[in-house]
Amino acid sequence: MSTTESAASLSGKTVPAPARHETTAGNYFVTNYPPFSFWKPEFVPELRAAMEQGPRAGVPLGLYTHIPFCRKRCHFCYFKVYTDKDSAAIKSYVDAVLKELELYAGKPFIGGRKPKFIYFGGGTPSYLSPDQLKHLTDGMKRLLPWEEAEEVTFEAEPGTLTDHKLRAIRELGVTRLSLGIEHFDDHILEINGRAHRSKEIARAYAYAREIGFPQINIDLIAGMVEETEEKWVETVAKAVALRPDSLTVYQMEVPYNTGIYQQMKAQGKLVAPVADWETKRRWVDYAFREFEKVGYAVNSTSTVVRDPAQVKFLYREGLFSGADLLSVGVASFGHINGVHYQNQADFDPYLAKVQAGELPIFRAYPTKPDERYIREFMLMLKLGANSRSQFKAKFGTDPVEQFAGPLARLQEWGFLSVEGDNIVLTRDALLQVDRLLMEFFKPEHRSTRYA
Ligand code: SF4
Repeated sequence: MSTTESAASLSGKTVPAPARHETTAGNYFVTNYPPFSFWKPEFVPELRAAMEQGPRAGVPLGLYTHIPFCRKRCHFCYFKVYTDKDSAAIKSYVDAVLKELELYAGKPFIGGRKPKFIYFGGGTPSYLSPDQLKHLTDGMKRLLPWEEAEEVTFEAEPGTLTDHKLRAIRELGVTRLSLGIEHFDDHILEINGRAHRSKEIARAYAYAREIGFPQINIDLIAGMVEETEEKWVETVAKAVALRPDSLTVYQMEVPYNTGIYQQMKAQGKLVAPVADWETKRRWVDYAFREFEKVGYAVNSTSTVVRDPAQVKFLYREGLFSGADLLSVGVASFGHINGVHYQNQADFDPYLAKVQAGELPIFRAYPTKPDERYIREFMLMLKLGANSRSQFKAKFGTDPVEQFAGPLARLQEWGFLSVEGDNIVLTRDALLQVDRLLMEFFKPEHRSTRYA
């Protein structure tokens, strides 16, 4: 997140937040709090201590597994991914993930809990073969049984999916398939470094529907390099025609560790070669409205769902509301008993630690009670509205009092209203909520890089 985005609030003046920005380098989206730049190796002992305590009453356990392999690195990608690992390296990795999970399985923080939700992210989990996936998930189930898991999400890249592999994925127990489509135009896919093309999307989606996954989500990105109004309209029409259970639309950000930023740096450019934020918001809004026309409902800053009563996303709910998230795999992010942590960010150090029988944790952050309140309030606001009574019951104070200053600023800017028990964002605010959330940050967390 750019520090200039919140200049209005930093000056202490209540002036409208700026409405238009070019896309410059840096993280834009708020996905956790306090910012990652405050997580440090010296806090790892506090994580170790948190693991030795039993779970907090009523807090569910989730499980995240990071699969860091991809066929190609997309130019906008900022994840830890490898495109050059052979099957022996992948086998070593899968074995390391199982060994890492084994190191956690007997710890007191588990306290007999079984995961309520499970998420396979990456990278590309569907890059693994059916045999590799079965070996991984059989081992995971032996260590932490899945029978209480209400949701198992699996990210997939369309070009890695065959009918056979999709059946195998379903048989593992996956309930929510998330397809990284991003765009339907082959030129846009190619110029942005994606590995798949539109033919593979059509084939994979048809197979997935035929197999009968309970929930299929598709991802799109608004504002890829060379995006145009016409191409976006076509892409949204094709997405609507698929009738997914949910659609997630990301606005393109350009963090420092992307290929796009490397190219900007080499050319001495400060502005990324993608649409400005106002245009990206307008494109997401267009997608939302096209889906609303056929009965979908907007239920977060980036998602629409076909049936809000049926289509849940427990991983997101758990993550936002402070569930314990046991995360395994290179560079993965987790949360145990109030302490955030991230694993070793590189392949070899990760493997070396686990093979030596040690937890591969790189850095941690023990959250304070007020930081947990800020975190949950901000992240839940990304769903569009927060209930005052629910937050008061959980944290002891009414958010209207706790966050009087930032809420007043957002109200003054026309972004928010308090309607009885609910604190509600306007659609305009929802589409730019990430840049507004910095208003809730503690002062010491504002003037630094987010990640
Ligand atoms: S498929 Fe996803 S994780 Fe892999 S390189 Fe592309 S954006 Fe990154």
